Amino acid sequence: MDCPALEPESLAAQALGWVDEVTHAISPPIHASTTFVRDADNQYRNGRVYARADNPAFDQAEQLIARLEGGSHGALFASGMAAATAVFQALAPGDHVLAPQVMYWSLRNWLASFATRWGLQVELIDMTDPAAVRAALRPGKTKLVWIETPANPLWSITDIEATAALARAAGARVAVDSTVATPVLTRPLAIGADLVMHAATKYLNGHSDLLAGVLVTKADDEHWQRVKAVRAQVGGTLGSFESWLLLRGLRTLYLRVRCASASAQRIAEHFAGHRHVQAVLYPGLRDAPGHAVAARQMHGGFGGMLSLRAKGGEAAAVATAAHVQLWKRATSLGGTESLIEHRASVEGTGTPAPADLLRLSVGIEHADDLIADLEQALARAHG
Ligand SMILES: *Cc1c(COP(=O)(O)O)cnc(C)c1O
Repeated sequence: MDCPALEPESLAAQALGWVDEVTHAISPPIHASTTFVRDADNQYRNGRVYARADNPAFDQAEQLIARLEGGSHGALFASGMAAATAVFQALAPGDHVLAPQVMYWSLRNWLASFATRWGLQVELIDMTDPAAVRAALRPGKTKLVWIETPANPLWSITDIEATAALARAAGARVAVDSTVATPVLTRPLAIGADLVMHAATKYLNGHSDLLAGVLVTKADDEHWQRVKAVRAQVGGTLGSFESWLLLRGLRTLYLRVRCASASAQRIAEHFAGHRHVQAVLYPGLRDAPGHAVAARQMHGGFGGMLSLRAKGGEAAAVATAAHVQLWKRATSLGGTESLIEHRASVEGTGTPAPADLLRLSVGIEHADDLIADLEQALARAHG
């Protein structure tokens, strides 16, 4: 059953309402097979051949995520990085691409090393500034504009609609890393993007227990066919059990993201102007640089990610992380448990993260407990 009129919360809660035709099971079976039988006349009418290219375990999650994003097709990958790099590897050597200076660290490193050696002309710009985008676009040469919003680890905001209009006028495709916003808060395809990427490792799964990535496309075009070919040929393909776990996590996506967003807003407001905090970076704060754009393109909250800059510099930031009890000192984001990390230590030299910055991933614990724990940790660090 597939009811077009249902709200996304209903589609997610029932994972599109699919029921297994053979057993009538509500939770789908796990298809572990790597290979599929040919018809007697040597054809593959069923469409399945080999699990590096495709797997029935993907269908429900791919279609659900595509539906939530308002796209035509989805593709699961073995990690967020496998998904993101497939978008670039589907381009041709010599193509010019624009990416943000402030973005997910590992992808930035891959662009600077592998993609550049492979022949892409990668230019990192201030993607939050439409004038910088306009100046950097080379009509006919620029094939891809990569946006991340809100962007790691400063939560800077890029205006998807304005940037996509500039890119389209120059003949470039637009892809958005929407890992932090999720389809709950932002739907990039509806405001001009061609592709959406998620590290499904984060909010889409939401339980810190699997690595996965996903792409959703607006159109089934030539670039999308090359993206699918990269997955099938390179093998950055998700496993069957991971696909099943991801589908389970997706059922509670809307509850989790709204809870984390509401708590992040409270935490940001609580620590803005705090005696031990120099700055709070969160697009939901009225005086945040990207607030007006975020308020336009994010609906129902500003996400579960924020950063605190501690007074007292790096030593105070590291000491604060050392004293938390409820928050877990770990990298990653988007799980049910709240995480804290000293980001500059993770990213190393060349990071845009100031030395006094603590990156917070807000989980679904009670916000009062999270605030109280940060209060005592800040007090001890400044004791
Ligand atoms: C984690 C993350 C990625 C990479 O995802 P993996 O599953 O770790 O490969 C990409 N973009 C953002 C914004 C992320 O947070």
